[in-house]
Amino acid sequence: MLKGKAAVVTGSTSGIGLGIARALGRAGCDVMMNGLGEAREIEELRAGLAEETGVRVEFSGADMTDPEAITGMIEAAIDAFGRIDILVNNAGIQHVAPLDKFPGDKWDAILAVNLSSAFHASKAALPLMRAGRWGRIINIASTHGLVASPYKSAYVAAKHGLVGLTKVIALETAEDGITCNAICPGYVLTPLVEKQIDEQAASHGIPRQTVIRDIMLAVQPNKAFIGIGHIADLAVFLCGDAASGLTGAALPIDGGWTAR
Ligand code: NAD
Repeated sequence: MLKGKAAVVTGSTSGIGLGIARALGRAGCDVMMNGLGEAREIEELRAGLAEETGVRVEFSGADMTDPEAITGMIEAAIDAFGRIDILVNNAGIQHVAPLDKFPGDKWDAILAVNLSSAFHASKAALPLMRAGRWGRIINIASTHGLVASPYKSAYVAAKHGLVGLTKVIALETAEDGITCNAICPGYVLTPLVEKQIDEQAASHGIPRQTVIRDIMLAVQPNKAFIGIGHIADLAVFLCGDAASGLTGAALPIDGGWTAR
């Protein structure tokens, strides 16, 4: 379905991003992975994905807090593949603390990785997408791009900002064959959420299962984590012809959380 196309997926050494990179590869799309981690493990992931899918898989270690590195990542993808058709802005970090105790450096880092990186990457990718009159920008926001929870000021602000950025990009590209949408997942069991479970269990002195059932999934009416594969399949759908008129949307995949 996506044979001959090329994608960049930020934050794809783990969790949702890795799932999306895998699904795009299976759909026939060449992929540039990105993320932090140990070089040998990343090379194993990259080589494994290339072998499993049969597409070209490259890696950029660009730090999503560094605008020049982000631009360099897009340029490297264009050098490697000769094109860029799909950009998935997925890299994200979290920190949980009340506002009056929220560390300023954590605020800056969350805004940089979860919001500003999408601006820099989209800005760098758009000219070639426009020239080819085809493009897909998919921003991995969150339920927290639509509603808030306490103690997540930076994350909620960044994800609401990302939904806003999505709408602006959609309007500016609406006549160019390009779509831009946000996917807004509820809780997905990835390392980012595992860390929150561990921290809450330690701070409340309660078992992990209690945190999952009574705190985390209390807000998610279906009482189940969202599958990485389901988010990845939605991303692939957004890249297809059936979604060519779907732009500027913030799509919840949250077990009913935002239906309340
Ligand atoms: P994760 O921790 O498993 O993966 C995060 C990825 O981002 C990793 O590849 C990591 O290396 C990369 N990353 C972090 N900082 C980076 C930096 N400075 N430069 C480059 N890469 C960096 O997390 P995840 O749960 O898969 O989250 C992926 C996205 O989905 C995030 O934007 C997150 O906010 C969003 N999301 C997650 C959930 C959830 O429940 N897990 C829910 C809604 C939205």
